[in-house]
Amino acid sequence: MMKKFTVIAKQDKESEELRENIIEALIQTMEYSDKHPDLVISVGGDGTMLYGVHKYIDQLETVGFVGIHTGTLGFYTDYLKNEWQELIRDIQTKEPRIENRALLEVLYQEKKYYALNEMRLENNRRSQIIDVYIGNEHLETFRGNGLCVCTPSGSTAYNKSIQGALVEPNIRAMQLSEIAGINHNAYRSLGSSLILDESQYILLHALNYKNSVLCVDLESIELDDNEVLEVYLSKRTARFLDYREVSFVERLKKSFL
Ligand code: NAP
Repeated sequence: MMKKFTVIAKQDKESEELRENIIEALIQTMEYSDKHPDLVISVGGDGTMLYGVHKYIDQLETVGFVGIHTGTLGFYTDYLKNEWQELIRDIQTKEPRIENRALLEVLYQEKKYYALNEMRLENNRRSQIIDVYIGNEHLETFRGNGLCVCTPSGSTAYNKSIQGALVEPNIRAMQLSEIAGINHNAYRSLGSSLILDESQYILLHALNYKNSVLCVDLESIELDDNEVLEVYLSKRTARFLDYREVSFVERLKKSFL
């Protein structure tokens, strides 16, 4: 039984007001705790939920997430703004199915970063030369703007804009896609997105990272030359509370069609 809750909101008037309404309604039966909540309610968009998951990244094993979208239905949000009272009722009366969303672990200079959507190695000033290894096997020397590795949940975000495949969120896999890869007679890389299972890891190495940035969800990190990045599917997951069992097809239709 969940006892402590918090509500995070996008910084706009509508989301802030909704946040206040939710707190006022839930405080009757649950304790408000921003520090150690069992339940995190996100009000805003998928970006707000992304922020929320990172805010509680050290407590993922004990926190459940549920979202209200103030626009149309999103990929991390199951309720619309006019359904907030239904969400309160569901929290108070139902036992949700837990959807464990996969995370990536990105290792760089002995530091570990988590991604719910994706990691990107991007350079929009000059072409980036990156050696790509799958485990200990060299796959290719990539040339282009960069590379993106996404989770199934992140496949509908940046990955979609670079024509990666959309992946059902329950599949434990990661997807490597190119960002404006150069492909001609002199330079060649795979060109297609590559989907790998959890037994694999991706290793990326470049001698020169000048103007290159590592983006992990909302965070960006400047890189040093001649460094290695390793990307794994994490054993840790983000626990989404699925009161409504909204299908992937429904989300796709509402968001994109
Ligand atoms: P942001 O403004 O927070 O997000 C950019 C857009 O991506 C928003 O419309 C957001 O939806 C949507 N989004 C986020 N996660 C999603 C998901 N899992 N599935 C479908 N749509 C999703 O931008 P940010 O702060 O720069 O970065 C946050 C995320 O945005 C990144 O992880 C990246 O995936 C995505 N992004 C995409 C592009 C692109 O497609 N070219 C460019 C930059 C960033 P809401 O409006 O519901 O919040």
